[in-house]
Amino acid sequence: MRKAIRRENNKRYSQDFYLRHKDKKTEYRKSNKKRDQETRQKHQSKLKEIVISHYSDKSMKCQKCGFSDMRALSLDHIDGGGSKHLKEIKTNLYSWVIKNNFPKMFQVLCMNCQWIKRCENNELYGHISDKMIQKYIEEQIGK
Ligand SMILES: [Zn+2]
Repeated sequence: MRKAIRRENNKRYSQDFYLRHKDKKTEYRKSNKKRDQETRQKHQSKLKEIVISHYSDKSMKCQKCGFSDMRALSLDHIDGGGSKHLKEIKTNLYSWVIKNNFPKMFQVLCMNCQWIKRCENNELYGHISDKMIQKYIEEQIGK
């Protein structure tokens, strides 16, 4: 009998403790998540800096137009096929490049020059098949 009472008290205490600290716990998780995200972002931008620096001969500029804002610089697959390659490696491109000892298949381009290149090579909508476009159009007409 006493055991049952004790057990009931423990249970009540646990529930009470949980309710009293619920908000604190949520807050702690939230702030850690943010910190975790920040750490990951810092790590990513460091990797990006190393890779962009390597492929731009430390100029940190687009090889085509000279644009130098890091936020819009990225690695371009010189011979195309970038999205297929990204699917294959299943990881972050910058860490893949470092792990694979900076293969000579990339150049640094700004996003503008990348889009222009994709347009010129008809790669812009390559990842969407004609069948998918047709299906989309049919669905829109059907509405
Ligand atoms: Zn450019």
